Amino acid sequence: MERAHVKAIALLSGGLDSALATALTRRLGFGVVGVNFSTGFCTGQGRCDTVLATGQTLGIPVRLLDVAEEYLSVVRHPKFGYGSGMNPCLDCRIFMLRKARELMEEEGAEFVVTGEVLGQRPMSQHYRALKLVAEESGLGDRLVRPLSGRLLPPTWPEKQGLVRREDWLDIQGRSRRRQLALAREWGIEAFGQPAGGCCILLEKTYAARLRDAFAHRGPDAMTLEDFALLRHGRHLRLSPKAKLIVGRDETENAVLAGFAKGRIRLEPLDVPGPTALVEGEVTEEELVLAARIAARYADAGPDQEVRLRASWAEETKELKVRPLPPDDPRLRALRVG
Ligand code: SF4
Repeated sequence: MERAHVKAIALLSGGLDSALATALTRRLGFGVVGVNFSTGFCTGQGRCDTVLATGQTLGIPVRLLDVAEEYLSVVRHPKFGYGSGMNPCLDCRIFMLRKARELMEEEGAEFVVTGEVLGQRPMSQHYRALKLVAEESGLGDRLVRPLSGRLLPPTWPEKQGLVRREDWLDIQGRSRRRQLALAREWGIEAFGQPAGGCCILLEKTYAARLRDAFAHRGPDAMTLEDFALLRHGRHLRLSPKAKLIVGRDETENAVLAGFAKGRIRLEPLDVPGPTALVEGEVTEEELVLAARIAARYADAGPDQEVRLRASWAEETKELKVRPLPPDDPRLRALRVG
C-alpha cells in the first residue's frame, strides 16, 4: 500500500494544532480531506473562513458540516460530565470523532487525524482521556494524533508500515513554542487563537445562564433557539417560570427582535431604549416589573413615566411605568450570569 493511495480525514478546528497535524499528514504523502463541525456553540469570528484558508494553503478539500441539532444531546446529557463551565469536553470529542468515523467510511478513508496534544488540556487531553476517546468513538487505532504520535501507542498507519514512529512529533504540554515555530517553517498563516476559547460553553456567564435554564426548564425542553438566546442581552429571572432578557445596545436589540416569536416583546414608545423579551409564564405583576426594568435602561429621567408596548402573538397592550431605580437590589438579585 502506498501512502498516496491512503486517505485520512482531518478534523480542522480553525486553530493551529489541527492545521499542523493536517499539514504533517499531508507532508507524509497521505491524501487528506479536512472537516469542520459547526455545533452552534463555537466562538471566534471567521472560523469557517480560517478553516477554508487552511485547506487552501495545504491543498486539500474541506467539508463544513452543521451538526448543531444532533450536538444538543451532548450538551444536555453528557455521559462524562462538564468541565469548569458547561463544557462537556470528553463527550464533545467523542461525538466529533464518531461523526468523523462516519465521514471516514463515506469517503473511503482509512484513519482520522486530530490536532490533540498530550497534556495540553486538563479535561480532554491527558493520556487516559485520549485513550478513552479513541475507544468510545469506535476509532481505536484509526485515530491518529500526529503532534504527539511518538508518545502514544502505535496507530493503524504505523502498524501497516506506512509510517515510522519518528515520522510523528513528540509535542506535549501547554507551551505553543514548537507549534509556532513549525507554523513559520511550513508557511501556515491562517489560524485562530489557542483552542481554549473555542466554545461558548466554557464562558462563565453563558454557563451560569445555561445552568439556570436547565434547572428551571429542564435540558430537554430547550430548543436550539433557546440555547442561542442565552448568548445575547442581560438575563434576569423574574420567577421560576419566567425570565426577562434586555438588549444592551442597538445591535443586540435587533438580535433580540429576531427571537420575539413565542415571547412577549417590550419596547419603549416615546424614548429611545432597549428591546426586551419576557419568556415563560408571567403574571401581571411580573410583567410590570419587567417593564420597569426595561424602562430603567431607556433614555428617561428617574421620575419620568415611560410608556412601553408589550406585544405577543397578535396582541398588544400599553404599559405606563416608572423606571426601576438603578440601585434597586432586585436588579442584582434577579440577574442570571
Ligand atoms: S471546549 Fe472544545 S472540546 Fe470542550 S466542549 Fe467546547 S468545543 Fe468541545
